[in-house]
Amino acid sequence: METTLRGVGVSHGVAIGQVRHMGTAVLEPPAKQIPAEEAEREQGRARQAVEAVAADLIARGNLAGGEAQAVLEAQALMAQDPELIADVERRIAVGSTAERAVYDAFAAYRALLANAGEYLAGRVADLDDVRNRIVARLLGVPMPGVPDSDEPYVLIARDLAPADTALLDPALVLGFVTEEGGPTSHSAILARALGVPAVVALPGAGELAEGTVIAVDGSTGDIFVEPGDERRAQLERAAAERKAALSAATGPGATSDGHQVPLLANVGGPADVPAAVEAGAEGVGLFRTEFLFLDDSREAPAEEKQVEAYRKVLEAFPEGRVVVRVLDAGADKPLDFLTPADEPNPALGVRGLRTLLDHPEVLRTQLTALSKAAEGLPVHLEVMAPMVADRADAKAFADACREAGLSAKFGAMVEIPSAALRARSILREVEFLSLGTNDLAQYTFAADRQVGAVSRLQDPWQPALLDLVALAAEAAGAEGKSCGVCGEAASDPLLACVLTGLGVTSLSMGAASIPYVRATLAKYTLAQCRRAAAAARATDSADEARLAAQEVLSGE
Ligand code: PEP
Ligand code: MG
Repeated sequence: METTLRGVGVSHGVAIGQVRHMGTAVLEPPAKQIPAEEAEREQGRARQAVEAVAADLIARGNLAGGEAQAVLEAQALMAQDPELIADVERRIAVGSTAERAVYDAFAAYRALLANAGEYLAGRVADLDDVRNRIVARLLGVPMPGVPDSDEPYVLIARDLAPADTALLDPALVLGFVTEEGGPTSHSAILARALGVPAVVALPGAGELAEGTVIAVDGSTGDIFVEPGDERRAQLERAAAERKAALSAATGPGATSDGHQVPLLANVGGPADVPAAVEAGAEGVGLFRTEFLFLDDSREAPAEEKQVEAYRKVLEAFPEGRVVVRVLDAGADKPLDFLTPADEPNPALGVRGLRTLLDHPEVLRTQLTALSKAAEGLPVHLEVMAPMVADRADAKAFADACREAGLSAKFGAMVEIPSAALRARSILREVEFLSLGTNDLAQYTFAADRQVGAVSRLQDPWQPALLDLVALAAEAAGAEGKSCGVCGEAASDPLLACVLTGLGVTSLSMGAASIPYVRATLAKYTLAQCRRAAAAARATDSADEARLAAQEVLSGE
C-alpha cells in the first residue's frame, strides 16, 4: 500500500527507485568467547573478509582514478598487512570471534600509528575506515560510506558531507533523501550540482527498509513509499510538463521587459563546468575552491595543481565572468591542517577568511595560482572572500589580492549580518558584493544549516533575510557596484524574481536550476518583481512572504 511522507524539496525533478542507505559507523562487536573448535572457521572468515575488502578498495580506486586511487590502494595494503592478519588470527585462537578480533587488532595498530608522528597519525582515519569495512562485512551490515550497488538507487543518508560524496557515481544516484539538513545543506547543494531530485529534513528516512521502492518529488518534498502505477504515471507526467515549459525560454537571464540579470553557475571544480555550459550559464558566480583542498588532509594543493584546475574553469567562459571564491575552510568544511580541532562552536570560530588571514601563505599561493591561471585569457576574473565581517576584513583581503599582483575585481561575500548592515563601509574596500544567503540565514536566525530541526529558520523567504538582502543591494546600487546572490536562494525561481526586485544584479546557482529560473524570470517585468519584493517584505513569515509574492506575480 502506498504511503506518503513529507520533507523539504530542495532539488527539482522526480526519481523513482530502490532505497540504498549510506552506511553509518560500525558499532563495537560484543566480546564473546567462541569454543576452540570454531577457531579455524573464524580465522577463514576473517581472511576472506580482509581479501574481499581489499579487492573492493582496489576496484573502487580503479573507478575513481587520480589521487583517490592512491588513497584507496594504500587502504587495501593496510587491510592485507601480514602482521595485522597474524594478530587477528592469534586473537581468534584464544577465543575471539572474527569481528571482535579484527576490531581489537586494529585498535592496537591504531594506537601505534596515533603515537608515531604527524604523518602516520594522519592515516588513522583511513585505518578506521578499513576496520569498519572488514567488521561490517563480517557482521553482514551495510558498508560504511557510499552504498555498493551496480543498479541505480535513491540514496538515503542522515546527512551528506562533501567528503562523503567524493566517490559518488552520478550515473547510479537517482536522487537523495536525508533525515537532517536544510535547503542550504551540502546534501541539497550537491543534489543540485548533480541535477538529481532531492528531499531533505525527512524524519524517519533512516527507517525506510533497504530495497523499498520510493518516488521522490524534489519540487514538492513528497516521498511516496511503494507508489502505485497511477502515482508513477502522474509524477512522470508532471515532470515532463515542467521540462517542456523550460525548453521554451533560452538566452541570457532577463525580465520580460528586458532588465538583464545574468544567470551564473555555482561550480566546485572543472567537473561541474560542462553542465553549466549546457544550461547556458553566462559565467560562474561562485567557484567553491575548497573542493580542491578536500583530497588531502595534510596540506594545500601545490600551486601548479591549483593553476591547472582554475584554468580549466576560466577557459570554459572565454568572454564571461568567473567569480572565484578563495578557500572557505572551517565549520562544516573543516581541513585538518588549517581548522582548529578544539573549537566549541566551529560555525562561530575560525572559518572562511579568518582561516586565511591566520595562514597568509595559503591565501598567497591561491591568489598567485589564480593570477597565473588567468594569464592571457580574455575572461573577466573576479575574486571574493568568504565570511567577511567588516571593513577591516575586506581591506585585509583586498590588500592580499593587490600584494599578489592579481589583475581581477576583488569582492566580499555577505554572509554575516554585520556585513549586510554595514555594506556601504565594506564597499569602500572592494568592488562588488555577493550574498551567500545560506550562511547569512544561518547567522541571522542562529539556526545551524546542518540541523534539520531548524530548517524552518533556514528558509530564505524569511522577511528578515530579505531585509538584509535589500540593505546590501541598495548599498551597492548607491555606489554603482554590483551585488549578486550566490546562495541557494537564487535557485528558487519565484524567489529569484523577488531578489531581482530587491535590486540584486546577478543570480548564481547550481546549473540544473538555471533553466527554471530563466523561464520564470522571463515571465515578469522588473516592476512586477519590485512589487512582489515589497509585498514579501511586508509580511511576518517565510510562508506569508512566498504567498504574497505569488499573489502579486500571478496578478491575483
Ligand atoms: C552561502 O553561504 O550562501 C554560500 C554560497 O557559501 P557556502 O554554501 O559554500 O557556505
Ligand atoms: Mg557560505
